[in-house]
Amino acid sequence: MRISSRLGQIRSEVKAFVDDRLTLSHIRASMAHALDTVFPPHRFDSAEDAAPEALLGAGLASANWSRVRFLDHDGCDMCARPFEGGLFLGVGAHCNDCTDKPFPFRQARAACVYDEAVSGLILGFKNGDRLDLAPMLTRWLERAGADVIAEADIVMPVPLHPWRLLHRRFNQAAELARPVARRLGRTYLGNALKRTRQTHQRGKGAQARWENVRGAFAIGQRDRKRIKDKRIVLIDDVFTTGATLRACADTLLKAGAASVDVCVLARAILSVSVPK
Ligand SMILES: [Zn+2]
Repeated sequence: MRISSRLGQIRSEVKAFVDDRLTLSHIRASMAHALDTVFPPHRFDSAEDAAPEALLGAGLASANWSRVRFLDHDGCDMCARPFEGGLFLGVGAHCNDCTDKPFPFRQARAACVYDEAVSGLILGFKNGDRLDLAPMLTRWLERAGADVIAEADIVMPVPLHPWRLLHRRFNQAAELARPVARRLGRTYLGNALKRTRQTHQRGKGAQARWENVRGAFAIGQRDRKRIKDKRIVLIDDVFTTGATLRACADTLLKAGAASVDVCVLARAILSVSVPK
């Protein structure tokens, strides 16, 4: 009787110990999650120092690699859109749309066409499912934008709204911009440009997209001094209608930037839906 009582006591002590440990581990996990939410982990470029050529196709099956339509500065100099039929109209040529209504930025570079070959990769990267692609995608961006980034003083990402950043936990444009700036020796300003209201562009036409993002960006007084008279390269993942990039460039130029250029991973040229 006494032995069984002692055994019961030991059993309950062991259970309490295990419960405590579980509780502690749960608390630790919850705290880690909370910290991750408040201070998003955003360094996925650990493999960035690998050999550049090895990273250009890393993470892609050869069949997928061959389907990617890489651009080579052979489209419109201002919006990076390829000309009809793949024609090359000369260095610095502008498309009809940019001639009629120029963007405030001077030039745009895109690594590839946004189509079925890359939409899954870019979406996976944005959503955090394919962060392993970050080193490869930054190499694409770096190669496409090398000439405009070489002339720049500052590299900065198109910002997310703080609520979107909290939800997604990282800004995919910043994940592209930061390692490129570091490798090419340019100043990286990740927080100077701010998105002051949430903007959902999906499913909207060009005019609606522009009205949606116009005036949605701002630069703090202190950061105005940092960008004054500086040449800036804006980085984003996809150039769709250019409305967001136009709004960002407008804001930067009004705040005193000397010039703005644009560098993106992919240029949407067909009516392929690009989730934001
Ligand atoms: Zn153009």
